[in-house]
Amino acid sequence: MAGVNPPETLETVDASSRAVETDAAQEVLQRVFGYDNFRGLQREIVDQVISGGDALVLMPTGGGKSLCYQIPALVRPGVGVVISPLIALMQDQVDALTALGVRAGFLNSTQYPDERRTVEAQFVAGELDVLYLAPERLKLASTAELLDRGKVSVFAIDEAHCVSQWGHDFRPDYLALSVLHERWPEVPRIALTATATEATRREIAERLDLTGAKHFVAGFDRPNIQYRIEPKNRADQQLLSFIRTEHPGDAGIVYCLSRNSVERTAEFLCRNGIEAVPYHAGLDARTRATNQARFLREDGLIVVATIAFGMGIDKPDVRFVAHLDLPKSVEGYYQETGRAGRDGLPSTAWMVYGLNDVVQQRKMIDSSEGDAAHRRQLQLHLDAMLALCETVQCRRTQLLNYFGQSGTDCGNCDTCLNPPESWDGTVAAQKVLSAVLRLERERGQRFGAGHIVDILLGKSNPKVLQHKHNELKVFGVGTDLRDTEWRGVIRQLLAQGLLAVHGEYGVLTLTEASAEVLFEHRKVMMRREPERVKPPRAAKAKASSAPAVELGPAALDMFAQLRSWRAAVAKEQGVPAYVVFHDATLREIAGRAPTSLAELGAISGIGENKLAKYGEGVLEVVAGSTPADPGGQSQTGPASASGRAGARGSAAPGRRSAAGRESASAALGQARRPAPRSRFEPGEPPPGWDIPDPDFEPPPDEGY
Ligand code: ADP
Repeated sequence: MAGVNPPETLETVDASSRAVETDAAQEVLQRVFGYDNFRGLQREIVDQVISGGDALVLMPTGGGKSLCYQIPALVRPGVGVVISPLIALMQDQVDALTALGVRAGFLNSTQYPDERRTVEAQFVAGELDVLYLAPERLKLASTAELLDRGKVSVFAIDEAHCVSQWGHDFRPDYLALSVLHERWPEVPRIALTATATEATRREIAERLDLTGAKHFVAGFDRPNIQYRIEPKNRADQQLLSFIRTEHPGDAGIVYCLSRNSVERTAEFLCRNGIEAVPYHAGLDARTRATNQARFLREDGLIVVATIAFGMGIDKPDVRFVAHLDLPKSVEGYYQETGRAGRDGLPSTAWMVYGLNDVVQQRKMIDSSEGDAAHRRQLQLHLDAMLALCETVQCRRTQLLNYFGQSGTDCGNCDTCLNPPESWDGTVAAQKVLSAVLRLERERGQRFGAGHIVDILLGKSNPKVLQHKHNELKVFGVGTDLRDTEWRGVIRQLLAQGLLAVHGEYGVLTLTEASAEVLFEHRKVMMRREPERVKPPRAAKAKASSAPAVELGPAALDMFAQLRSWRAAVAKEQGVPAYVVFHDATLREIAGRAPTSLAELGAISGIGENKLAKYGEGVLEVVAGSTPADPGGQSQTGPASASGRAGARGSAAPGRRSAAGRESASAALGQARRPAPRSRFEPGEPPPGWDIPDPDFEPPPDEGY
């Protein structure tokens, strides 16, 4: 576990003056969400917003940002309005809240006019707790008028980094959100993001007019994620072996840079018996929506995607995120890898990286639009990413340092588990630099890395002979290293700024610092890659602050049966499985084998509504799979979930027991609207997803 500094608040909050609201917040946390304690800064944030103050919240993915606005929305009078950039996920967010008994709705262009009118009427009548809106919609005069007709309790600006013009997810419509404060000055605002550099935070505060807000910066460590970066040889094969040996049957995201490699990799996995779907901005909207819906709903599916995929994806049981190409920035890498393990269970962030990645990224920067300052910014981002890849120190500490936080060796990244050796690469560096220098000075020529390596290895291939490079003094001086090792040397020289790469053909040139190595005895230390990278021993050992419940064979069997039951329930209700219960909750159920609703209700993640809705069904599965019950095993499983529950007159999916219904509504003290009808089957986009959608603008996808 990383020895990370405790989360810090920039300002502390005097909670004592808000005892009444705090009690209300605690009560909602337990009753609605089924959690006993706030995590980290949640309580301070919730207090701040409930008392009418503004907040800017920086928390890593999976840190628990949603509760920070959902609880104020439930405690303060009125409706919490959540501005969220991706409308394709709003249905799932609403489904997840509805499953908790929270009255939630959304307004976007996927709806038929009558559906929209219904939600608008519910908002005006105060029959909603939470309303999701796309930022584009908020700009419409009709939306502002609608908000004036109802009562807004809080504005939550989700994914607030979208306001940052230099960021990778910039959305112009976010710039207009500063009007919230002007038009509704009495409504508190909370902006939330997982993107965390000091500069981004300042930019968010300025652009959203949140300079007077309290800033809450959580610890950015994700201890349950194991970070690994390996040398790239044959990326497809490496990926296949990684999935087969470490994550068979697990859900995961594989990121590639180009649309072509997304398609190729998804096909490759399918050909090898691993179910995978592609996702990139070049696919039509319907295919994208279908693939995303399948990923969210099915167990163990892999999505291969460009960075167009992922923002707002809150599937909790993504067990790995793999990068087959180098991300452009540490912020991007951290956001993407953060999508693994939101449920706190052990997960892997795995990446392969090689010389071509560096060459390709530098080429892209050279050819990018924008002024010199913009290119400089891109270059700085890339340098930080390369430093992370080439470090011989703990990767997690390096990541945390990047976000201005400190840590000690974590014991759960590749450099901690399998420390790389460093070696004195000065002579090797001099050989490479000398080859580049001679080509430039003696011949006025520039070549790419492959040709330089051929010269050093003394290969008399046609290109070498054609240019008479076999006559150079450096020809054949590098037979002490192999081809791949020389590529590693060049990659590290590029990463250290001792060599530069330019233009369409990726030619190598010297930098100012090269002279220090060639003529001033500057020492160059390099990372020696292990011959073959073995999966680290502790690969599956770490969980986050809520450790995974260790299960014996009988409990594992029960866990499997609970998952089958959950799959059947989710299918029947047309919601992702995690909306019913998270894996972590099912594991705890399997570990404790509760025999009563009271025991079940004490398990983390089971609030009042879920207890009423699913409690009997869960107890049946538990009873059926407990060895003491002789006939139990054969009666459990998805096929019997509804039937048996029906026989007990209660927990069929989508139905509530009378007792449950009573306690749910009594405790919430409000009349409930009927549970939403099942909107669509897994694999099937909901109605309206093929309608041209003015709200939906996929993030830019570089089609190189
Ligand atoms: P974020 O939006 O920051 O990525 P989420 O709000 O989706 O994170 O929360 C991540 C996970 O942590 C969810 O499964 C959520 O239910 C769980 N969680 C959040 N707060 C708590 C808490 N106080 N106790 C237990 N689990 C929590």
